Amino acid sequence: MSIQATLAGSSSTLHVLAPCCRRSARILLGRARSFATTNALSKEKLAILGSGWGGYRILQGIDKKRYDVTLISPVGHFNFTPLLAGASVGTLEFRCAVEGVRKYARQVTYHEAWADSIDFQKRSILCTTATPSPFGQDEGGRQKFHVKFDKLVIGVGAYANTFNTPGVKEHATFLKDVGDARRIRMRIIERFEQAASPNLSDTERRALLHFAIVGGGPTGIEFAAELHDLLSTDMPRYYPRIHKLASISVYEVSQHILGGFDEKLQEYASRRFQREGITLKKGHHVERVEETKLVTKEEGEVPAGLVVWSTGLALNPLIESLENVSKTKKALLTDGTLHVLDAQGKPMPDVWAIGDCAMVNDGPTLPATAQVASQKADFVTDVLNKLAKGRTPPDQEFKWKNKGSLAYLGDWKALYDRTAGGGGSASGTAAFILWRSAYYSLQLSWRNRITVPMYWFINFCFGRDITRF
Ligand code: FAD
Ligand code: MG
Repeated sequence: MSIQATLAGSSSTLHVLAPCCRRSARILLGRARSFATTNALSKEKLAILGSGWGGYRILQGIDKKRYDVTLISPVGHFNFTPLLAGASVGTLEFRCAVEGVRKYARQVTYHEAWADSIDFQKRSILCTTATPSPFGQDEGGRQKFHVKFDKLVIGVGAYANTFNTPGVKEHATFLKDVGDARRIRMRIIERFEQAASPNLSDTERRALLHFAIVGGGPTGIEFAAELHDLLSTDMPRYYPRIHKLASISVYEVSQHILGGFDEKLQEYASRRFQREGITLKKGHHVERVEETKLVTKEEGEVPAGLVVWSTGLALNPLIESLENVSKTKKALLTDGTLHVLDAQGKPMPDVWAIGDCAMVNDGPTLPATAQVASQKADFVTDVLNKLAKGRTPPDQEFKWKNKGSLAYLGDWKALYDRTAGGGGSASGTAAFILWRSAYYSLQLSWRNRITVPMYWFINFCFGRDITRF
């Protein structure tokens, strides 16, 4: 509209120009008009499912002038997952760990909705609004609608795997998004306030202040480390009479924590945790979670005021529901160029899948990380942008560049491991500086490039503020 209005305005002012200027202006105007018309007519509809490391990255990089983009995601933000553990204990404010998608609202259509099913033949996605409304159609106040597409990128991620352990969904907390981080922070403060009330025995207080983490992978370990920082540096100030009764245990079914990291680094992390008083329960099987306890095969009932569950990934229900596609129990299968494979194993030319919900058929098993998701997103963005310009994208396959793994271990120490990618490794304060620099440089907006270091600095000077409101 605004282009046309400008053009109409320009043509009415043409007559005041000198003849030669008039001619050039007409040619320019004609070109601009034909570009605007063909562009509007030939714009293909691109649908993106998910606003995570895969989907949001596509949203950022896609040529929004050449595609009619629709983003469908049940949450209106992107989660900067590596900072969630810190946000859950107040090292950072919640806002620092998210990017809103509505900032692109002038250029793309956003639906705060779930994609429920995809009809690849009709090129249509059935969606359900995520927020109930008084004018919704079903009993829950939700609305169903269809979104048509010419091209589709599926980046819906994965769910937390509970291994069907009873009570996990009801009583444990996951750490997958900023909502979980908020729930965890509220629960920690609630438990401290409950434990601070008079008339409780120290045994009861210890039960309330036992924080259990199930899963010794990078997420569980980083959360344990951040929580330990909170308990050892800030809680003594806020709860001087009871802070010593708090404890942290990590339950891991295997004999190793930080699987995927180099063995020497795993040992370094175990030693650090032992020194700091974090109990590592390796080879322990959690059989059930209840409101105020967990039950393990090895120890029976163990009281716990908070159980954080982080034991790996399960298939997203949307992927589970898809028919006529190739998939495994873990992910949707794609070819090397990230096109989704149909049931016969043939690539669908206009459908791509990236991130935790997808894996390359017969390719190396890549870790379910932000690094892989964003590299796949960059690969698909490049292909889509070339297609939109009428250029043939190179027929190269996706290749993952391993930039190394980082894990925070608490007390300004971390691990860096690039041994699998043929590089080196580091541990301790040097790795911590690398950790902070890496996550600072990966920030996706100027707002967070300012707020993240600001909160790190404020909390360094004044301690974490965990006031509940
Ligand atoms: P996600 O980021 O999970 O995004 C999925 C998106 O799809 C979400 O927006 C979700 O709302 C949406 N969605 C779900 N279902 C539907 C549906 N039916 N319809 C539409 N939208 C849907 N990786 C690293 O490389 N380094 C790290 O340090 C690191 N730290 C992590 C810390 C934590 C606490 C966690 C949880 C993960 C961490 N990871 C890290 C892993 C990394 O976050 C994931 O691999 C990455 O998020 C995968 O990106 P994705 O886009 O596939 O999925
Ligand atoms: Mg995504």
